[in-house]
Amino acid sequence: MYSSFLIKYAEIAIKGKNRYLFEDALVSNIKHKLKHVDGKFTVRKETGRVYVDANGEYDYDEAVDALQKVFGIAGICPVILTEDEGFDKLCETVIKHVDATYKDKNFTFKVNARRARKNYPLNSMEINAKVGEKLLEAFPEMKVDVHKPEVLINIEVRKKINIYSVEIPGAKGMPLGTAGRGMLLLSGGIDSPVAGYMVSKRGVEIDATYFHAPPYTSERAKQKVVDLAKKMARYTGPINLHVVNFTDIQLYIYEKCPHEQLTIIMRRYMMKIAEHFARQNDCLGLITGESIGQVASQTMQSLYATNAVCTMPVYRPLIAFDKQDIIKVAEKIDTYETSILPYEDCCTIFVAKHPVTKPDLKFIEKSEINLQEKIDDLLKTAVDTTEVIRVEAEEI
Ligand code: ATP
Ligand code: MG
Repeated sequence: MYSSFLIKYAEIAIKGKNRYLFEDALVSNIKHKLKHVDGKFTVRKETGRVYVDANGEYDYDEAVDALQKVFGIAGICPVILTEDEGFDKLCETVIKHVDATYKDKNFTFKVNARRARKNYPLNSMEINAKVGEKLLEAFPEMKVDVHKPEVLINIEVRKKINIYSVEIPGAKGMPLGTAGRGMLLLSGGIDSPVAGYMVSKRGVEIDATYFHAPPYTSERAKQKVVDLAKKMARYTGPINLHVVNFTDIQLYIYEKCPHEQLTIIMRRYMMKIAEHFARQNDCLGLITGESIGQVASQTMQSLYATNAVCTMPVYRPLIAFDKQDIIKVAEKIDTYETSILPYEDCCTIFVAKHPVTKPDLKFIEKSEINLQEKIDDLLKTAVDTTEVIRVEAEEI
């Protein structure tokens, strides 16, 4: 029934002089996303608006689903675009629209007309009153509520007349590609995919680094991380996933350092390696799923000790999130079910029974002196043997 969508965007609208850059990125991202949807579409800008027009038959649900994964879209409005064929014809079209969209007419409504084209014979107040009257005649169950209507029937007189009353929520945020690149430390857990999603939502493209420890961690644990990246990629676009073999570094730390410091020291080396790949891929920061107090390695003291090796900004979007709230986002982006699959994680293989919860940076640095002999070679080997997998979205 709808051959077009009106795309509403929130924050992009306030970007002043650079606005067209954001709009162009949005249009191009929408086009790209719709390539995988059954149907043919045109995406166009028109006077501060973005429209998607379907050329002929298309799969409505697939199209909406695809649009809901494009960052920068606040709302998706299925819209009727008609030529101006007189006021009676307009009323008829609105009535048809309401009839087709709402089976049960027992709701309150308000007509919200806007006259962008000032030569239209009726002003917006007159359109509101007259269309409202016609609707009440056609559907006596409907009631007017001008303060808190359940349904807002929008009629905008532009080049064409726009009629819409449904706004499907979008992913919000900023269009991908308008904010630079970040390197996500992606584990198989619940948090890091959510962290990557959240930063990407601000327009940041992402790459990822995963540390595994074969044979202590399995091929299935690695596949799980690839699967998570695939799910994320539906929102973030393709991800270059760097799979680092961390076994020898972990074993060396285990051999040379106090076991209660193991996790912190390991995490410091993870950050260093991730930074190496971040730099290589022109990333402007690291992204992790850390949250204050969640585990021993995420107390403020631990974060302080881990962060001390980083020279790039580290973005931790979940820093103040409770687990339950993280899980809600994981469910929304459909990574949760994969994240809870019970495969080994390299961090849990060598953990001490009683890890330090308040590490002192001085002692950590002192312990790392024990690693001097071989650590540079081990880091070099880890970097040189890293496998890079290009992960594309598992389309809808
Ligand atoms: P997650 O649910 O994301 O695995 P977590 O609660 O298990 O997080 P930690 O194991 O302390 O917490 O890890 C904190 C962060 O460090 C993760 O969110 C992730 O960004 C990074 N990280 C941990 N393990 C790995 C790994 N094996 N490979 C890459 N990054 C990792
Ligand atoms: Mg983890």
